[in-house]
Amino acid sequence: MPEIEWNRLSAESLRDLAERDAIVLLPVASTEQHGPHLPTGVDDILCSAVCLRTAQIVAAGRPIVVAPTLWCGLADHHVAFGGTFSLSLATYHAVLRDLCRSILGAGFGRVVMVNGHGGNMAALTVLVGELTRELEAPIATVTYFMEAQAEAAAILDDQPGVMHACEAETSLMMALAPDLVDRARLGEARGPDFDMLASLTPTLKRFHRFKEITGSGVVGDARRASAEKGAALLEAYANGLAERLLAGEPWG
Ligand SMILES: [Zn+2]
Repeated sequence: MPEIEWNRLSAESLRDLAERDAIVLLPVASTEQHGPHLPTGVDDILCSAVCLRTAQIVAAGRPIVVAPTLWCGLADHHVAFGGTFSLSLATYHAVLRDLCRSILGAGFGRVVMVNGHGGNMAALTVLVGELTRELEAPIATVTYFMEAQAEAAAILDDQPGVMHACEAETSLMMALAPDLVDRARLGEARGPDFDMLASLTPTLKRFHRFKEITGSGVVGDARRASAEKGAALLEAYANGLAERLLAGEPWG
C-alpha cells in the first residue's frame, strides 16, 4: 500500500506524486460542540478518516494523496454552546484560496475539498466557483455524507442520514475513536430531526442558531448508535466517493 498522507511524505515523494497527476483530497472540517456525549473534534476526526479510507481504496487504481485537514470552518451557529471555533466567510475564503494555491504550487492539478461539516456546505458551493476562477484550476468539492445516501439510510434506524452529533456521527465515532464517546450521556443525545438539504434550499427562511433548534446541541437521535453501524457507514461513504474518483469524476 503506497503512503497516502501528505504529512508523512517527503517533498520529493510529493513532487513525484504531482508528476503522476495524483488527486489531492483536502479534508475541510470544523471544531465545534457535538452534544454532551461527543468531543468537539468530531468533524475533524470523521472527515480525516473518510478521506484516508477513500484514498486507500482509490490508491489501488490511481495516485492520490490526502492533505492535512483544515480543522476550522463556519460554525457560528454553534458558538453559544461553547467549545466552538468559527471563521468569518471572508477569512474562510482566503484560507481555502491559500491552501489550494499551495497544493497547485506543489505541482498538483486535481484538488477535491472534501467537506465534513454541514455549516460549510453553502459556502463551499459558492467558493468552488470563485476558487476555480481565481486560481485558474478546476477545484472540486464534495460533502462526504451527501455520498451513498441510500446506503446510509439502510444502515441507520432512526434517521435517514447525517444530522449532528446524531446516530450517524456517534456511530462513526464509536467505530473510529470509541474512547472519546461518553456512553453515560447517550440518553441525552437527542434533538429534533433536521433536514440538511431543506436547510440549504432558497425558500423563505432566516438564519437559526443551534440554541434555537436544540437544547442538547444534538439534532437527530444518537441513542441507538453503534460501532457496527459506524464501520458500515465509513465503508459506504468511502466507497461511494472512491467509485466516483476512480471513474474519473469530476474531471471526466
Ligand atoms: Zn459540524
